[in-house]
Amino acid sequence: MAQKNFPKSRGFTVFLIMSFFLASFPGTIHPCQTIDVTPNTRIEIHDVVLVNYTLWIEENIVDDQQGPIYVEDPDVIEKVGVPESIIEEFPNVFAPPNLGFVEGILGMRAGEETNHRINWITGKAFNDPNDTYYGENLFYQIRIKKILLDASQPTPTLMDIPFFVPLVVLLGLLIIFLIILRIQRYSRTHNLFGLKKKCYYCGKIANVMCGNPGCTTPYCKPCFLENNGCDLCHSNTMIPLK
Ligand SMILES: [Zn+2]
Ligand SMILES: [Zn+2]
Repeated sequence: MAQKNFPKSRGFTVFLIMSFFLASFPGTIHPCQTIDVTPNTRIEIHDVVLVNYTLWIEENIVDDQQGPIYVEDPDVIEKVGVPESIIEEFPNVFAPPNLGFVEGILGMRAGEETNHRINWITGKAFNDPNDTYYGENLFYQIRIKKILLDASQPTPTLMDIPFFVPLVVLLGLLIIFLIILRIQRYSRTHNLFGLKKKCYYCGKIANVMCGNPGCTTPYCKPCFLENNGCDLCHSNTMIPLK
């Protein structure tokens, strides 16, 4: 195997350079995306939802709110906050009051209403002794006015695999590169495009020529040896053909 010929190493260098550029091409990096809200869109974690709710404790309305809520476990929000990107897009966004509230709205659609009861002992109401409604059983009337941001993952496609397109392109290039190599190798022993010189005697691809500088008639080596040299000038030196 003639692995170290010049065209191959040059081809391989070109291949590496192209790979590098393709792999680092910024347009191929899959962006974080949200999908369109339809009437069938259901609330999921990390959505932003415009809600209207009333909180009852026993016979009294104690709270009445309207606005965009970031759907996330309030404990998580307390630890890491609402993501910057959400605040930028919805400056008046607020955190859900408690985990029970979040669980109560998951799966709802825009326009739907629910009455949601949260018993304090479940640990999903107000758990902090400093909370105004600590220890209370809660009753929410919630109306989902609109799903403002559906952050659910769209059904993944092949295009979502990171670097899928460059990978396919690279594979294509690799295959083309291998085909070119094969053609190169094949053409060494076959007269692929009729470009090679043929033996003066037998017509096969010549691999030597007459060593007489004024003659240089092509021969295959066996013919040249068998016939004791060049038929035309009778020189018996031969030079390998490239
Ligand atoms: Zn021959
Ligand atoms: Zn000759």
